[in-house]
Amino acid sequence: MLRSKLPAVGTTIFSRMSQMAAQEQALNLSQGFPDFDPPAALLDAMARAVNNGGNQYAPMPGLPYLREQIAGQLLLHRGVNADSDTEITVVPGATEGIFCAIMAAVGTGDEVIVFDPCYDSYEPAIQLAGARAVHVPLSAATFSVDWERLEAAVTPRTRMLIINSPHNPTGSILTSADMVQLEALVERHGLLVVSDEVYEHLVFDGRQHHSVLQYPGLRRRSVAVFSFGKTYAVTGWKTGYCVAPPALTAELRKIHQFVCFVAVTPVQQALADFMAEEPGYPTTLAAFYQAKRDLFCNALKPSSFSITASAGTYFQLLDYSAVTRGIDVEVAESWTRDNKIASIPVSVFYQQPPDATYLRLCFAKRDELLLEAADRLCKI
Ligand code: PMP
Ligand code: GLN
Repeated sequence: MLRSKLPAVGTTIFSRMSQMAAQEQALNLSQGFPDFDPPAALLDAMARAVNNGGNQYAPMPGLPYLREQIAGQLLLHRGVNADSDTEITVVPGATEGIFCAIMAAVGTGDEVIVFDPCYDSYEPAIQLAGARAVHVPLSAATFSVDWERLEAAVTPRTRMLIINSPHNPTGSILTSADMVQLEALVERHGLLVVSDEVYEHLVFDGRQHHSVLQYPGLRRRSVAVFSFGKTYAVTGWKTGYCVAPPALTAELRKIHQFVCFVAVTPVQQALADFMAEEPGYPTTLAAFYQAKRDLFCNALKPSSFSITASAGTYFQLLDYSAVTRGIDVEVAESWTRDNKIASIPVSVFYQQPPDATYLRLCFAKRDELLLEAADRLCKI
């Protein structure tokens, strides 16, 4: 009766581990979301938006006022000019934006290069578009791009490359040298890029985020995808935006208008109001999350785990090889059950999992919870 379009796909690791954490009453450092409140002024803006009648459909590409705020922020934080009418589209979450960008730009017979470990939503979208994902592993330990391996993976069928910096699940980031190499490669081969930049403001130790929007050769060929969920600690509001040249934006909107049609109106109004009030808010995030990363990593010092502090995102990898040689999926499950601490196994993000022993822990949590989690981990 029914032939599955995604026969290999089950329930995502994020849903499974969060569910297991709830069942086992474990500290949930698995799925990435803050356990603290968003800024009070943003919550007030949301209440105002709902109470002031912003409860019907917004225009399909997003509220003009929000798109203007986004354009302002792109200029302020990245020095990038983007036309709010023809290049910015508000979407109900980065997941939808990525899906629409892939659907809009690739089709049957095309190949799309992704880097492993690879965020879980890319490949299903590629498959549903009729294309094929070609997985290129990031270098072991540093999780950086192996340029020779990438070049070797490009074929005449390659149409698109998906990048994600800062990188989930490893916390690595692309450097400016990487971006220059990437720009040359996509121009040489005429490729499109989907650039998942949802953690753009979460970069640590004085590092810089490099957006595809800042490199002319990439800007021409890319859809950059952002999420308000990460920047404003409102993952449940499921709102983000895509920035792409007009022709790409037009194709993306054709898909977006029939997947969701519009993003949620009062959320857009509230975000726009808050962005207008506090345009500098995103610049506070790096120090805020770096302090959490440092608190967590320092508290883990007495443990036997090997830890390289994350360069970006709100995730920290932990190498458990000195403690157990178990398979990461089983280790994550047993820690949730027995030690009451839930994490995400990294092997599930690979087509061919390496012999690696990493778990990902989310540090977007209150300090007390991070210290309690570290205490439990130190006892393993
Ligand atoms: N890309 C990456 C790398 C993510 O980590 C996430 C979400 N956590 C998303 C995309 C999706 O973001 P959203 O919740 O806005 O759909
Ligand atoms: N992106 C979030 C994470 O990496 C999860 C979002 C989801 O559950 N789809 O943890």
